[in-house]
Amino acid sequence: MSLLAWDRIRAAEVVLADLDGCLATGNAPLPGAAELAGALGERLVVVSNNSTEDAPQLAAQLRAGGLALAPGRIVLAGELAVQLVAERWPGARLLLAGSATLAARARAAGLQLTQQDPEVVLLCRDLTFSYARLQRIAGALKEGAALVAANPDLTHPGADGVPVPETGALLAAVRAVAPTGCEPLVVGKPEPLLFRAALARAGVRDAARAVMIGDNPATDIAGATALGMPAILIGAAPAAAAPDLAALLPATGAAA
Ligand SMILES: [Mg+2]
Repeated sequence: MSLLAWDRIRAAEVVLADLDGCLATGNAPLPGAAELAGALGERLVVVSNNSTEDAPQLAAQLRAGGLALAPGRIVLAGELAVQLVAERWPGARLLLAGSATLAARARAAGLQLTQQDPEVVLLCRDLTFSYARLQRIAGALKEGAALVAANPDLTHPGADGVPVPETGALLAAVRAVAPTGCEPLVVGKPEPLLFRAALARAGVRDAARAVMIGDNPATDIAGATALGMPAILIGAAPAAAAPDLAALLPATGAAA
């Protein structure tokens, strides 16, 4: 249907694809996702602002839903944020607002999880975020702790269209109590770090040789475009190249 888009996908050295609203919704594959994954194989890398699970967990959930993706081809903002903190502040005292899975990742990366006097505050999607935690973060930032946020998303769409609060909603609260001049390092889309990590994972140096597929103009498309990476918008927006992945695939389903 969209031959130009398919030609771009076929020619790209790596195809980056958003997860939620693009390849899957919840853990259920969307139309064309399994076919695209099958056609691209190792050339497909998922780039998601997810800051709750790690790649092996998410791969297992998707496999149970019927979409087979290798954990090594899934790059997630939360997991990457932990890795970047461990690289930039080796062995640091870290106040992590996030899941048990990411806490385990942080410990494994040599970071010391603490509630008192952290050197770094890392915000992920924290289902137990509280007034008390916000108070501790305010204190830590006042004392000069660095602030890292997994993604800037305010919400993601939940069942029945009810918005699910995301990391960016917690970041808005933290910004409200942070000292003037305290700027977070944001890891997820539309910032470049997640895209660059995905390119590195695929061994592709030149963003122009990749293509990004996503359903969010403000994160997937704007972020890729800023890096010089061609991008294909799918979904209901008027500017979208196709309503879903299935419409991007050639009619025969043959993948060359
Ligand atoms: Mg999306």
